[in-house]
Amino acid sequence: MTTNERIVLLDPRRSLENLWQDLQQAFERVMRSGHYIQGPEVEGFEKECADYLKVREAIGVSSGTDALIVALMALDIGPGDEVICPTFTFFATAGSIWRVGAKPVFVDCDPVTFNMDPNDVARKINSKTKAIIPVHLFGQSADLDSILALAKKHSLFVIEDAAQAIGAHYQNRPVGGFGDIGCFSFFPAKNLGAYGDAGLVTTQDPKLGQKIRMLRTHGGLNKYEHPLVGGNFRLDALQAALLRVRLPHLENYTQARQHNAERYTQKLSQMAQGGKKNGQAPLILPKSVTTRHVYNQYVVRIKNGRRDALQNFLREQHIDTAVYYPLCLHQQECFRSLNYRAEDFPVSQQLSREVLALPIYAELRESELNQVVEKITAFFS
Ligand SMILES: *Cc1c(COP(=O)(O)O)cnc(C)c1O
Repeated sequence: MTTNERIVLLDPRRSLENLWQDLQQAFERVMRSGHYIQGPEVEGFEKECADYLKVREAIGVSSGTDALIVALMALDIGPGDEVICPTFTFFATAGSIWRVGAKPVFVDCDPVTFNMDPNDVARKINSKTKAIIPVHLFGQSADLDSILALAKKHSLFVIEDAAQAIGAHYQNRPVGGFGDIGCFSFFPAKNLGAYGDAGLVTTQDPKLGQKIRMLRTHGGLNKYEHPLVGGNFRLDALQAALLRVRLPHLENYTQARQHNAERYTQKLSQMAQGGKKNGQAPLILPKSVTTRHVYNQYVVRIKNGRRDALQNFLREQHIDTAVYYPLCLHQQECFRSLNYRAEDFPVSQQLSREVLALPIYAELRESELNQVVEKITAFFS
């Protein structure tokens, strides 16, 4: 293939063709029903998600961010409380803690999995700590055994931020059902993408499920009685109906991502082993250490300070990549008043300078993947 057509990180239009008729039917069904907020499409989608994720309760919400906020609200977390979360994650994980009035307490991550380091979690627990939010970053489960053990020992809640990890497993069970609450996102770039914003909250506790359902609609039992103050965190019927078309294909999408990851790993492994001449390898490949990594991202580490140079080179060669995340959350201006010190997060800071996400989406063509590998090889030779 020629390099005329840009290789992008994600082209969500490529999945449309196969689904077009089904999407059109779903659209018509909702439009003609006259029922646009919640209702039967949302209920149907919730049931199908609960089955897929093997959880008792699945509650559709307006976004992954709102899933986190409503989860924190349901656990009565607010001013005076501390919540432990990774510094190396998407902004919403900590932003939601801040928005309920609690304090995000950041921890460093593991250099191999990029996930929250349980040893650092243990160091940061104190009498104000109320919850831990592990993030299953890039599609791989965090070290849940260690985190759940710490939570149990100190009576803390666990909210899984599974926004990037729908269908990922920890010890052969889907993530999102291990902690008190699980939070998912259907932002278009996630493994199950909607056509707009959408999210999901999961729990194994029916009481908590009922509370989340109330909080989703202004904390109301019905239209006029409000035992709680909630918000408008509802999922649109249209998004639910369109997501119901895509959910049965999620396994195929996941397998395609895993297949792409295997091909990258196979084709880049020689470079990752380093040259005999000058020792250090120019890149480090991602590692799957859990029973099912779903590769929302395929993130390599570029050594010797050459990450930005490689990204620029690939861009010139019509290949898009991305840096998740160039700034850790403890470095964000909005959290400056919390006075976090860079020295406390050495691994995350190093990763923010080395990581590069390669195109991995389900519809990426083999010729495109080969082109990415070829250009990376050319850059390093
Ligand atoms: C995408 C994402 C969110 C937020 O989801 P939205 O649907 O975009 O609000 C939260 N946490 C993580 C780790 C994410 O990747």
